[in-house]
Amino acid sequence: MRLDEVMDRYDTIVVGAGVAGLTAASLLARSGQRVVVLEARDRVGGRVWTDRADGHAMDRGASWIHGIDDNPVAAAATAIGMPTQEFTIGSFQPDGRPIAYFGPDAERLSDVATRSFAHDVHAADAAMQELVETSPPAATYAEVTEAALATQRWDDDRADRVREFFSHRTEEQLGAWIEDLAAHGLDNDLIDGDEVVFPDGYDRLPEHLAKGLDLRLGHIVSHVQWAADGVTVTADGGTFAAEYAVVTVPLSVLQSDDFIIEPPLPEPLTGALDRLEMNAFEKVFLSFETKFWDDRVYAIRQQGQGGEWWHSWYDLSALHGTPTLLTFAAGPAAKAIRGWDDSEVAESVLIQLRRLYGHRVQQPTEVHVTAWQDDRFARGSFSYMKVGATTDDHDNLATPVGGVLHIAGEATWTDDPATVTAAMCSGHRAAVNILGRDIRIEDAWGVPG
Ligand SMILES: Cc1cc2nc3c(=O)[nH]c(=O)nc-3n(C[C@H](O)[C@H](O)[C@H](O)COP(=O)(O)OP(=O)(O)OC[C@H]3O[C@@H](n4cnc5c(N)ncnc54)[C@H](O)[C@@H]3O)c2cc1C
Repeated sequence: MRLDEVMDRYDTIVVGAGVAGLTAASLLARSGQRVVVLEARDRVGGRVWTDRADGHAMDRGASWIHGIDDNPVAAAATAIGMPTQEFTIGSFQPDGRPIAYFGPDAERLSDVATRSFAHDVHAADAAMQELVETSPPAATYAEVTEAALATQRWDDDRADRVREFFSHRTEEQLGAWIEDLAAHGLDNDLIDGDEVVFPDGYDRLPEHLAKGLDLRLGHIVSHVQWAADGVTVTADGGTFAAEYAVVTVPLSVLQSDDFIIEPPLPEPLTGALDRLEMNAFEKVFLSFETKFWDDRVYAIRQQGQGGEWWHSWYDLSALHGTPTLLTFAAGPAAKAIRGWDDSEVAESVLIQLRRLYGHRVQQPTEVHVTAWQDDRFARGSFSYMKVGATTDDHDNLATPVGGVLHIAGEATWTDDPATVTAAMCSGHRAAVNILGRDIRIEDAWGVPG
């Protein structure tokens, strides 16, 4: 422990240099505060992480802005000059962009059959809206799905296709099994405008936000002690004192015994902490010598039992200049493959691709499987609402504690949780609460106005 750090007193300590922490720190520092950011990793960005090890920018964490209209992340990306590519498929849309669908028999669906299936999904979704609104607090997303299917006069096969689509959607959107998700769990999963991804990497955003900050990497925080007159934070690299603290560690770290807050958090934060959960969600990248799959499609989808784990592949070829497919191990599949090596995962995925494309399927030249579940500083990918949770639980988790302690991060933003946008907005809210006045979110990346 360095004596100068023990003696130093800051205006605000920010724990975590992900997008939430960096947004808060940037806004507070630009407002004239003395701010220090404590980050456990040896890099900034947290769950925004671009891997360039194989020569391409591969986003192993977040990739998408899920709707660029009125979105501060999109505004920041434009202001910073981050190149983007339209890829409006990141929210498990049934249609809207070309998708190659394969039926349960692994035969390619005709355009008519594809349109008819997408129409069924929209019909069930329309029925869902009222059913979700009127559902009891303990209802699961699976129960409202069944109720919505019951409103349609479909034969079993037709209902099965939509049922499995809804199940896969909860897995891909939230990394959760449909029976574990609250009926309201997808309420705020709305997309305004196109979705985009970043050919040069998402990490340009946190790197820009971090510029000029007093940033301490490799500082693993274990204790946060708060009182009416301020906060003391204990990290591997020293003890820091400040008038305020913004804690942005992921939900799962906040829930763990490795991160102690004293006195313990009061209500409504504790209830929210109990009802929100970190998911299981991994990315699987497969690169090939040549492209063997359907051309001019955003995604490939397989219906039926064969698609229980591997049902959707996203074509990243145009993004990375190499024939590359991205699929997700999400929810139960992510839990099941935990501990598998990359080649085992690839073989499991290839069995399904061979059902669709037969002998044309090649051995991948590169495979990469993420391991966010085993990442000590993430312990999962993003949060979801367990059965019994309410959408307010997100915002409630950010209720200021004792006027000095502020929790931020994707799990604390009701409007669009589990996203980079949520992280950024939550960091802005923490800064506003600390300063006690409105500030523009744009000041985090631009010249304060
Ligand atoms: C595989 C994957 C895919 C995703 N896809 C998308 C997507 O396409 N679009 C989208 O919008 N969102 C996506 N997300 C979610 C998005 O990445 C997160 O919502 C967002 O980045 C969270 O930001 P944050 O600042 O809240 O948390 P984090 O980025 O996790 O930042 C918290 C920081 O706290 C640090 N920390 C943890 N413990 C400690 C400790 N004890 N002491 C000090 N520091 C600590 C962490 O290292 C981290 O840097 C994805 C996430 C993953 C993992």
